Amino acid sequence: MKVFVLNCGSSSVKYQLVDTDLEKMEKQQEIVLARGSVEKIGLVPSISSYQVVQENPLFLPQRQSKLPPPEKEPVEVVDHIAAIRHAIKCLTNEKTGVMRDAGEIQAVGHRMVHGGEKFKKSQVINDEVLRNIRECVEFAPLHNPHNLRGYNATYELFPNIPQVAVFDTAFHQTMPPHAYLYGLPYAIYQKHGIRRYGFHGSSHRYVTYRLGQLCGVNRDQLRVITIHLGNGCSMTAVDHGKSIDTTMGFTPLEGLLMGTRTGDLDASVPLTLMAKEEISVAEVNAMMNKHSGLYGISGVSNDMREVIMAAQEKKQDRAQIAIDMFCYRIKKYVGAYAAAMGGLDHVIFTGGIGENSPLIRDLSMKNLEFLGIEVDPQLNKMENTVEGKISTGNVGVWVVPTNEELVIARDTIRAIEGVDFS
Ligand code: ADP
Repeated sequence: MKVFVLNCGSSSVKYQLVDTDLEKMEKQQEIVLARGSVEKIGLVPSISSYQVVQENPLFLPQRQSKLPPPEKEPVEVVDHIAAIRHAIKCLTNEKTGVMRDAGEIQAVGHRMVHGGEKFKKSQVINDEVLRNIRECVEFAPLHNPHNLRGYNATYELFPNIPQVAVFDTAFHQTMPPHAYLYGLPYAIYQKHGIRRYGFHGSSHRYVTYRLGQLCGVNRDQLRVITIHLGNGCSMTAVDHGKSIDTTMGFTPLEGLLMGTRTGDLDASVPLTLMAKEEISVAEVNAMMNKHSGLYGISGVSNDMREVIMAAQEKKQDRAQIAIDMFCYRIKKYVGAYAAAMGGLDHVIFTGGIGENSPLIRDLSMKNLEFLGIEVDPQLNKMENTVEGKISTGNVGVWVVPTNEELVIARDTIRAIEGVDFS
């Protein structure tokens, strides 16, 4: 079955076409047919990139570096529906397409950022699900409206095929109250739903599942810490297959230091700033989300490669401090989550930084031998998004490239077929 996987942001649409069904999933015979993106939607020009893949997603990490870079072309795309129409045009192109016409698409899977407490797993979208997703917009005003825009567009284009919502928050719905509540008056949680939700759920879930495959054991036998380091960064304690705690909270602002976000911060800081600098809620929000983190500390960039270069080649102190802060927080949460789970079997690095930076993996795992964590310098040299173990101690430290699109494609099938996938 051809599943069209969509991840719609404010000005971008990322997509994949995946050939999968229950039997193919079971036999590990799924194929990513093609992938692409349309970025800078609404600007002149927008940028489209498209790539034929024709590869089993499990072998993709090994082939990734050998694939030619995706072709980029300027296009005129005014909104999300135009972007999705353009994606379909690429997928059905006479020369480089991977299907004859759009009628071959049998289901659509949508990334939805926030499912609140309503969604503990992926859902076939119907009127009630749609109403509940709309109610979650207030929790993720920067994300859910764009995800919904993607749904509206595909519903208009394919009104008769099933569409499934896969939530970033769903995997973390197993967190117990002592992990998800803030120390605010309980009535605030009841009245406004203000609690920790966690994000990157599809990524944390995928890498834990994949680790089980790589180790030949079921993930519900393992105590794992998953470390997703992309532009946004988060860690999760996955205890016997279930998320019991995660670093992001009510919004993706909490926890680790990120590209442009502060991570953990005393809640009185923004209040003090608003008073002292006479800035508005919107301004302090922008400062914490867009001008902080690696970028705010280093003054160089939100891109870890540039921060590392500034620290190593230009010897810029603030770039080094940013790197040290970044790695120190990861280490702190490793200790916290090992304690929360009463022990630790494996640590997984994923996301652009986790998959590609030996330096960050090394610094954040330093001096953790007392926990059984020993990163091997030779194994850790691995770059270019390869999959494998990088440690020699009792605790396995792994690099596992994430694959959120595959989770979305699989959940789309499971939700349609009514298969339990808790
Ligand atoms: P997103 O969260 O947008 O999906 P990615 O997972 O692609 O982001 O991660 C982007 C981050 O990965 C950037 O900070 C980038 O600098 C970093 N990155 C990519 N390659 C490397 C590398 N070789 N060394 C260090 N950081 C890298």
